[in-house]
Amino acid sequence: MIYVARADGKVIGKFSEQEFRAKISAGDISPNDQYLGDGTRQWIRASEFPGATFPKPDPREQVLPGTAWPPSAKVCTNCGYVGNPISITRGDFAIEVLLWLFFLVPGIIYSVWRLTSRYATCLKCKAPNMIPVGSPVAQRFLGRG
Ligand SMILES: [Zn+2]
Repeated sequence: MIYVARADGKVIGKFSEQEFRAKISAGDISPNDQYLGDGTRQWIRASEFPGATFPKPDPREQVLPGTAWPPSAKVCTNCGYVGNPISITRGDFAIEVLLWLFFLVPGIIYSVWRLTSRYATCLKCKAPNMIPVGSPVAQRFLGRG
């Protein structure tokens, strides 16, 4: 039996059953890729290949065990809130406009200061203590480290 494999609609090669299985285990063929067996006209998802064992997805892409939070979430070390922080920009937009209107250079300085002093704040307690949930410190904080 020879299998024709295709990924993203493009044929990527012909493989024996053994080769095809090896390609799957190596991660060269993903579950969403398709294959065609000898004498068949129906493309079948690689995930349905008998005995196929796909490599586990990159753990960094996975949601952390015991949480529903993606790795992009942050944890507040002040109150324990986990989620997306809110972005706070210091200063006042009105002052920025005023400075720009009357004095060009202070306006630039003020704008730069506002941009660089922007920080992530906890949604709950407003503390600027948000750290990535996947970091070792956060894991220890959550009691999983
Ligand atoms: Zn907090």
